Amino acid sequence: MNNGVNDLRRAYLEFFESKDHLCLNSFSLVPQNDNSLLLINAGMAPLKPYFTGQEIPPRKRVTTCQKCVRTGDIDNVGKTARHLTFFEMLGNFSFGDYFKHEAIAWSWEFLTEVLKLDADRLYPSIYGEDEEAFEIWTKEVGVAPERITRFYRDPETGECDNFWEHGAGPCGPCSEIYYDRGEKYGCGKPDCKVGCDCDRFMEVWNNVFTQFNGDGHGGYEELSQKNIDTGMGLERLAVVMQDVDSVFDIDTMKAIRDKICEMSGKKYQVDALDDVSIRLITDHIRSSTFLISDGVTPSNEGRGYVLRRLIRRAAKHGRALGIKGTFMAKLSETVINECKDGYPELWEKREFIFKTLTAEEEQFNKTIDKGLEILAGMEEKLVAAGSKELSGEDTFKLYDTYGFPVDLTAEILEEKGFTYDAAGFEACMEKQRQTARAARKETNYMGADASVYDDIDLSVTSEFVGYDKTTSESTV
Ligand code: ATP
Ligand code: MG
Ligand code: MG
Ligand code: MG
Repeated sequence: MNNGVNDLRRAYLEFFESKDHLCLNSFSLVPQNDNSLLLINAGMAPLKPYFTGQEIPPRKRVTTCQKCVRTGDIDNVGKTARHLTFFEMLGNFSFGDYFKHEAIAWSWEFLTEVLKLDADRLYPSIYGEDEEAFEIWTKEVGVAPERITRFYRDPETGECDNFWEHGAGPCGPCSEIYYDRGEKYGCGKPDCKVGCDCDRFMEVWNNVFTQFNGDGHGGYEELSQKNIDTGMGLERLAVVMQDVDSVFDIDTMKAIRDKICEMSGKKYQVDALDDVSIRLITDHIRSSTFLISDGVTPSNEGRGYVLRRLIRRAAKHGRALGIKGTFMAKLSETVINECKDGYPELWEKREFIFKTLTAEEEQFNKTIDKGLEILAGMEEKLVAAGSKELSGEDTFKLYDTYGFPVDLTAEILEEKGFTYDAAGFEACMEKQRQTARAARKETNYMGADASVYDDIDLSVTSEFVGYDKTTSESTV
């Protein structure tokens, strides 16, 4: 085994197969029969019916490597060493079968015995009041008590990173495993420790013990069927195993990164701003390629808008690097080559992927120069007026006329220390929706009132980053 991403994925799945788990293929990024989620953001998400008892699982022990998209992490991408919008989540699941003892012991066995990671660099965390997990870690696994971090609920909000819960229903404490990457990745603050937001102590694995049924108001009942739901980021594991600086340096990602450098004539790690662009494109081309292969196409609503934003953002950063013309289709060839072993659908859908990327990029390229020029003019006016906030109307004009997703405008403004009027923008959007609705009411589509379609396109635009927030953070 050479610690390549494909080897690590196989090693994990085979390890859990050896523990009697059934290995299932990754599910689509598009949730099936689940309106609560825009895109699959965790290994457990497509398995929900097995957890709730709605459906009988093919076996009580299942293992997967699941494609995930977390748009809630988009602002971190390119800036931290560990966040991507698209990543693969390794997971082992128990539906009313094994519980904490096995889950904890196996996660430790896999990391320290199969992968032979140095146990002195691993730090478990637990939910503050989970004495059972504490006992297992200290007495059964043999981790020194002082190496275990307890995370408590925030006394004001009641929230806790280590208690998995979404409204009413099955919920429970978590136990995470962090890897100490060493001081050079730290923030340098004297209190830098597990839980710090910097890249030193990197969360690698989260074990969720769904043992309660919550009433949604802080009341919990022990479940008779206790479940295990775990998630480990494959790219993060590869960072540890390949001993590289960030997720953008692991084998599969580096191939994409190198291709971007080749296309732009830029070298990685020469200019900090260029590096952010290179990393951002490396990430966004992966998420775009995988989303299209699962049937998502660019549009102005829902999943389609997620994709549109990713492609347009990458296209804009490609320009910043000096790449001429369309480049995403060519780049997605590298993604497909790197990932087709694990995901053969990428190869099968390659023509559709190339066509979709190029069409979207071309459409954006038609207006981007003009849009950037207009935005520069707007910025000059802001400076002259001594203001730091672009009006909602101007932000809307960029969106509506020049196809600038609002976060792209926000990002360009931010580089100069400006912001935009989000409420004003939203008001313009709402006005446009109402106009569209009124127009549809007047138009009689083949004798039917077209306003019946109104519900379909309501989930638009500016809430983008928040779409999966409620279900993405600290959730496996
Ligand atoms: P973090 O606190 O670092 O943002 P998280 O607590 O949100 O991670 P979980 O929801 O617990 O993450 O997901 C399980 C695992 O998936 C994490 O331990 C991590 O290895 C991986 N993971 C989560 N978010 C990302 C991401 N944006 N990019 C790559 N891997 C991720
Ligand atoms: Mg997170
Ligand atoms: Mg976390
Ligand atoms: Mg977590």
